[in-house]
Amino acid sequence: MITATVKSKVNEDICVLACPDNHGYSYMFDCGMASLLTVGDVMKLKALFVTHTHIDHFANFDFVIRNRAGSRDPVIICGPLGIASNVEGRFQSYTWNLIGKKRSYFEVREIVDSETVEIYRLCPPQWKKSLIKVQNNEVLFENEQVTVSHCILDHKIPSIAYRMAEKNTVKIHELPFAPGPWVAQLKDAYLQGDMERDIKTTSGIIKAKDLFYTLKEQPGYSMGFAMDHLGGGNNHRLLVSFFRNVDELFIESFFRQVDLDYAIRHHHSTAYLSGVLAREASVKRLNLVHHSRRYLGEVSDVIEEGMAAFENRSPNFSKAPISRYSEALPDVETEEVQ
Ligand SMILES: [Zn+2]
Ligand SMILES: [Zn+2]
Repeated sequence: MITATVKSKVNEDICVLACPDNHGYSYMFDCGMASLLTVGDVMKLKALFVTHTHIDHFANFDFVIRNRAGSRDPVIICGPLGIASNVEGRFQSYTWNLIGKKRSYFEVREIVDSETVEIYRLCPPQWKKSLIKVQNNEVLFENEQVTVSHCILDHKIPSIAYRMAEKNTVKIHELPFAPGPWVAQLKDAYLQGDMERDIKTTSGIIKAKDLFYTLKEQPGYSMGFAMDHLGGGNNHRLLVSFFRNVDELFIESFFRQVDLDYAIRHHHSTAYLSGVLAREASVKRLNLVHHSRRYLGEVSDVIEEGMAAFENRSPNFSKAPISRYSEALPDVETEEVQ
């Protein structure tokens, strides 16, 4: 199980923290202004996944630097083309004469295109990016408990969608002999695909393959995260396939369908389109997040719009939707719409 929590209040930006059970690490998805994020959350941060570096998705990165710059455990930052320079730029905006050449470092995995990821390292006290290696067609992030894959969306700039999945687990559903250390050995043989391993059971030595019938593989919990992207078209097709059957999805609902023209002009989606996408992908639980501040007085209706589309029913609004982006309003959107 992965417990994912939105750390930004509704009038703030977007930041989600994911904590797999029985696992000391946390994983952060985007790092916009988020007053619910604590020092404790950041102290156990293993990796940060950034969709893109518009300010409402990256403004709080200083909080990560502030609490982890001297840490022995590296923070791994994954993000779109240019992320290594963005991270370096933030470090370069401070003076580091009081920090020695510690063994700590930050690692950046920059998604250059659909096949290529460049790995950079930034070390104190200069914190200059240095290219370590180039990966082709490899999984973006993997450790003993989770795997994170990605796809690239169109938001006029690349915006990365992420899918985090716990590794499958194996449970024993039938005990043919008295339990003992052999159960763990058998599970390990199964996960390694080692059919011929000799398992010392409490009733003698048996080949692993002859005991595999006692095991059942359980799929790990999976969650998706997709923020700013152009609704419909290719992005829609890509995400329906990428998020197929995820247990939980966090997705943007920056605009309402009544402002679809405006959403398209700014390469965004709508609450309705995100709800349709989640339904077509057979997502189990939907979280509609990241709303324009113009809808602050009607956020429950924004969410209702998307949830009704997800559940394939008529929406039950508290008041009829009206456009908050009519041409009559002054053109201040370049500051707000990111
Ligand atoms: Zn945004
Ligand atoms: Zn954006």
